[in-house]
Amino acid sequence: MGLVTSHWASIVAGAWGRWGLAGEAVFESMSLLIRKAQRTGNDGVERSDEREIKLGFHLGAFYTRSVCACFFSLPQMLAPACSVGPRAPTMIWIVALSVIFAAHADPDYCYNEPDCDPYAWGDLFPSCHPLLEEPHSPINLDHQVARDASLGSLHLEGFDVTQTGYWTLVNDGHSVALRFGSGMSVSGGGLSDVYHTVQLHFHWGGVASNGSEHTVERRRYPMEMHIVNMKAVHPNLTAALDDPTGLAVLGFFIDVVYADHVQFGHISQKLSSVAYKGQTAKVKPFPLMSLLPKHNMSQYYRYYGSLTTPPCSRAVVWTLYEVPIYISWSQLAQFTSQIFSTEEDAQQVTPLQNNFRHVHPTFSRVVAASRDARLLAGSSGARPGSAAAPHVLLLQVALLGSVVSGL
Ligand SMILES: [Zn+2]
Repeated sequence: MGLVTSHWASIVAGAWGRWGLAGEAVFESMSLLIRKAQRTGNDGVERSDEREIKLGFHLGAFYTRSVCACFFSLPQMLAPACSVGPRAPTMIWIVALSVIFAAHADPDYCYNEPDCDPYAWGDLFPSCHPLLEEPHSPINLDHQVARDASLGSLHLEGFDVTQTGYWTLVNDGHSVALRFGSGMSVSGGGLSDVYHTVQLHFHWGGVASNGSEHTVERRRYPMEMHIVNMKAVHPNLTAALDDPTGLAVLGFFIDVVYADHVQFGHISQKLSSVAYKGQTAKVKPFPLMSLLPKHNMSQYYRYYGSLTTPPCSRAVVWTLYEVPIYISWSQLAQFTSQIFSTEEDAQQVTPLQNNFRHVHPTFSRVVAASRDARLLAGSSGARPGSAAAPHVLLLQVALLGSVVSGL
């Protein structure tokens, strides 16, 4: 999910200064080990043509950042740590600091460049470091889920009516988001509070590769849609991100069939207006429920995790619905080939593709299956292949592109 892109430069700069060289070295070594372990563990998930080993790069980044740490530590930490020494002329430091501030004034994350892709986010945003036992997202869903019979359908207030005013579709360079006004909220289904619905956005792959964030039994869907909701008691996003359950995100897998999803066209038909970063378009509101698999909304999985974009705050109650939204190949292609992560007047335009974060271990977290969830067998649920698991067959058939589901 993508929410926060600004004001982190000062925080990161401060963190650099505080760590110092020793802390950096330990942190980086730990990070490298974790990254390597994650790649090994996710071979079945990650595409072979992407997410290549970047250990060499990160060693280079370590050197660069260590030098930065020295500069930011002026004057207290400078003398013992840096080879330049404490008596360097003042002008040198002024120039050096100017260069560094210029270089780091707007640290931004990306998905496909080695110096800012998801494996490097921790270098820019410390809370994105995949430290052991930290509940990061996304995750892989498998049969290690626990049935929770108390998890019924969520109450989706305002989702089945047409809201007034206009919604705003925006390309923020990391995704395409549809920002809502007031009037919609979610509650129930095990949520302890009411959450106001703020926006939805998408994650996708490339022209010939899938791009959902969460995976199901190591399989990645073509796309994933996140409906972001903020706990109503919080006055702003900053406060919500400090609360382990400050956000409730509804995640929907998106699969592909031959027929258009008519209501999805409200969004896909506007994509050409937001092809480049920073562009926005007005969208006439429509009942949001018309996008969703409305007959299967009681079938979902629940776990506690993080934002999947920087600053990777551990503040999200995740609800992942097991029945996908089905769109057409051409609707999918509008995302994978017609959206750019760069501005319209950029010297080199870059397609926005593969905007998903790699999966993270669940560690000791429990992933709960709702009362009606059927795709993955819980402790008391149906087993795959049994007569009670029709969606397994349905999904397999749909993936072959040989049937149009009525869902
Ligand atoms: Zn997302």
